[in-house]
Amino acid sequence: MNEVNPVSDLSIKKSVNIYTFIALVGFAAFLYWLANDRYNDFFQAHQQSAKKAVQVAAAEIKEIIDNKRRAVGYFADDNRSLILDLSLHPDEVGLHDELNQRIARSVPDFFASNIVTASGDLIIGDFEGKVGELCLADIKHFIGANRQQVRVHPNNDTYHYDVLTQLPDDREGKLFFVSFNLNELSDLLELIQPTRHELLLVNEGMQNLIEINSKGGRDVISDRLDYRLTGEELSRIMSSAKIDDTVWSVIDLHQPGLLAEYRKKTFSEYLVVYFLVVVIALYMRSVLVSRDHRRSLAETQLRKSNDEIRSLNDKLELLATTDSLTGLYNRRYIDHRLEMEWSRCQRTGNPINIAIIDIDYFKNYNDQYGHQAGDECLKAVADTMATIFKRAGDTVARYGGEEFIIIMSDISVKQAELILQQFQVALKNKEIQHKSSMIGDYLTVSAGLLTAMPKPSDSVQDAIKNADKALYMAKESGRNQVYVYK
Ligand code: GH3
Ligand code: MG
Ligand code: MG
Repeated sequence: MNEVNPVSDLSIKKSVNIYTFIALVGFAAFLYWLANDRYNDFFQAHQQSAKKAVQVAAAEIKEIIDNKRRAVGYFADDNRSLILDLSLHPDEVGLHDELNQRIARSVPDFFASNIVTASGDLIIGDFEGKVGELCLADIKHFIGANRQQVRVHPNNDTYHYDVLTQLPDDREGKLFFVSFNLNELSDLLELIQPTRHELLLVNEGMQNLIEINSKGGRDVISDRLDYRLTGEELSRIMSSAKIDDTVWSVIDLHQPGLLAEYRKKTFSEYLVVYFLVVVIALYMRSVLVSRDHRRSLAETQLRKSNDEIRSLNDKLELLATTDSLTGLYNRRYIDHRLEMEWSRCQRTGNPINIAIIDIDYFKNYNDQYGHQAGDECLKAVADTMATIFKRAGDTVARYGGEEFIIIMSDISVKQAELILQQFQVALKNKEIQHKSSMIGDYLTVSAGLLTAMPKPSDSVQDAIKNADKALYMAKESGRNQVYVYK
């Protein structure tokens, strides 16, 4: 039976551990990649919407300012005589009121207006303090460059911006300007800014000074002391766009923590998945290892059973070669042994002696003393044989009934004959009573001896037949003797 190759528990455990470890590390890397990918998608989606928002806001604000410029230009055209009248009589409050009422009717978000000399001096007295230093500086800049960079002017009342225009067909080169409040611009920012983002108009030239957010100007931004963007805010800028002919850039800030929170949420979700998979993998691993443990236990059991079967087989083998009554070799064994010894002597050229021994008048013995006594007698003969034929080259077997066969290798016929005679003497000395023997009072045997130096063509069967013939001759010649085949 083939032995089951035992696989050690330890090596199975080790390889299961290695595979589990590799699978878990690989899966962790895969989940990390997935989480990162999801985060990148989220980041890109927000960046896209920020980019879109600042582009749209910049275009809309430019449109608003351009419209205001056109409206102020048309207004100055249409109301030229009133404006000139007022410039000649700047103290006439009625004229100024009339002008302001007209402006309010034609342009929304109107806040204030004034007329300026070509050198930049206010013509109408600024009694309410609506015109600040920045207004005057912008007027000067407009006169020098003939171009206006719109920006927010702070004011006690309302933060606003001015739109300047040259008074048409005026020889003195006077200017007219209208101030607007910031509502339209802040409303626009509120409308466009994406969720969890903030749109701001920032003056980059003034170290990123915040000008307008979705609530309005700095006068309504109440929760800070410094209106310049902090380093932390700069790091949150997702997109920005400049607006021509203004000092402004629209910038998009994502809400603080937006990306970090998403990253944390995504990674913790994947961590939970990973944890579950680790638990399942470890459970599977323990199932595998314990199943394997049971298998190796079964294999050990099987090996033990195999060993037991083998030792039983050995016992059976022994029984199969032994005669149960006498304990000598049996016919099956001696036939095999004869073949082997015969061919060995054929190869070596050594002599082989085959003797067949038969108890004389054994039928009578049985009849006289009973079958059981006959058995005891057979055992006694066998025991005596064991004391005589004990050389390394001697093999004794029960050939059947009361016949025995002896192989005596590597000795001469004379020596073999002598040993057989020694056996006869030994048996005689045992004095086994045999009253119904026709040749004496004690048990005797006859033996036929064949000796040969077998040639390759000689057969062992012929040799046995000849030994049997010699035995026949011993019986014929009066029994209780050794007859050598000639
Ligand atoms: P001979 O001298 O010519 O050999 O005469 P014999 O009576 O010995 O020969 P025979 O062949 O007539 O009888 C052999 C007897 O041996 C017959 C049988 O009962 C007996 N015998 C054979 N095997 C056993 C055995 O195992 N036990 C007993 N008790 N007797 C056996
Ligand atoms: Mg016989
Ligand atoms: Mg006999």
